Amino acid sequence: MTGTPTTRIERAGALDAADAIAGVRDAFVGSETDLVYFDGNSLGRPLRATAERVRAFVEEEWGARLIRGWDEKWYEQPIALGDEIGRVCLGAAPGQTFVGDSTTVLLYKLIRAAVDSAPDGRDEIVIDDDNFPTDRYLVEGIAAERGMTVRWLEVSRDAGATAEGAAAVVGERTALVVLSHVAYRSGFLADVEAITRVVHDAGALVLWDLSHSVGSVTTELDAWEVDLAVGCTYKYLNGGPGSPAFAYVAAGHQGMRQPIQGWMGHADPFRMGPGYTPADGVRRFISGTPPISAMLGLADMIDLIDTVGMSEVRAKSVALTTYAVELADELLAPLGVTLGSPRDPGQRGGHVTLQHDRMREVVAALWQRDVIPDYRDPGGLRVGLSPLSTSFDEVRRGMEAVADALRDPA
Ligand SMILES: *Cc1c(COP(=O)(O)O)cnc(C)c1O
Repeated sequence: MTGTPTTRIERAGALDAADAIAGVRDAFVGSETDLVYFDGNSLGRPLRATAERVRAFVEEEWGARLIRGWDEKWYEQPIALGDEIGRVCLGAAPGQTFVGDSTTVLLYKLIRAAVDSAPDGRDEIVIDDDNFPTDRYLVEGIAAERGMTVRWLEVSRDAGATAEGAAAVVGERTALVVLSHVAYRSGFLADVEAITRVVHDAGALVLWDLSHSVGSVTTELDAWEVDLAVGCTYKYLNGGPGSPAFAYVAAGHQGMRQPIQGWMGHADPFRMGPGYTPADGVRRFISGTPPISAMLGLADMIDLIDTVGMSEVRAKSVALTTYAVELADELLAPLGVTLGSPRDPGQRGGHVTLQHDRMREVVAALWQRDVIPDYRDPGGLRVGLSPLSTSFDEVRRGMEAVADALRDPA
């Protein structure tokens, strides 16, 4: 290509042409259509490979191996797949990550396990007041069950938790701190390493919710000395609606007792004997029969991310959100839209939130036009840019459509 791109179409085309991993987008169902998908942070697109994996599973594994499948593969699958997520996405050595229940249930199990193991006198759980609802509701419920106090870390809606903010609320009464790596509303990217150090200096444990970061932001759980983490697999890990979550329990914390002690976390589940003896290692955090068929899609995405590399994924994510901010400044700021996300890409995860008091109707109008962002009160349109399934031209078309809808919502 010669010369400097002048039009927006040319600029988007030049960005796509310069993107070494642009072709990966073709691996996703729907990439051949004109639909603009800005909600990969809520439900990632399926990979084409998943259709074949599901067929092979039904016919060759479930259909042919039947109950033998448990001995041959499925019993180990939650931990085998957890190890893969740990290696490819989390910076976690094997034996610390497993795929289990829903995000909400895994959060419950780990929060409850952590506070039950806290020394006497540590009777406070710290959580930020703009964390995802399920995280806040769980902490309030567990505090009520255990006679503990919730200590709120106040954060601004267009930012998130910082080390200074955490230092001001943790102390000798803190049992556990629960925070999100990327804030679901603003996209603010927390400094996990620095905040974890602050929490440890206060003698407490930290649980990081990785739902909005895993698969888009690089993470080094072992090196950052994180205690506990939980994350979603149907967002940037493209596992499909309701695919199960994963949890990470650092090797040093695997002696904790988890509250939903079921037969699949038993040291010897098929003895079916009296009394509960927890399995060694991370297996004890499993409760019942693992949702094997719901783990299929996620395995394809882990394979793809492994091929591309998490640092390339993050670089593409930063380039996409930076381009979205550039277009917001050019097209939407003149229409009264403000940025509800950090401008500094080093403080931003994989999505950008645009604020305007008419965004609810704008999002409804866009869905009619096959442009799919989502809406979060108050007045926030979220542009969720799944790094491997989104092109720069898709960002251009979507942001132009937002401007059109703001001018003419009908
Ligand atoms: C998406 C998300 C969840 C979802 O919880 P489910 O149990 O899967 O519904 C929880 N926490 C955060 C921070 C999320 O972004």
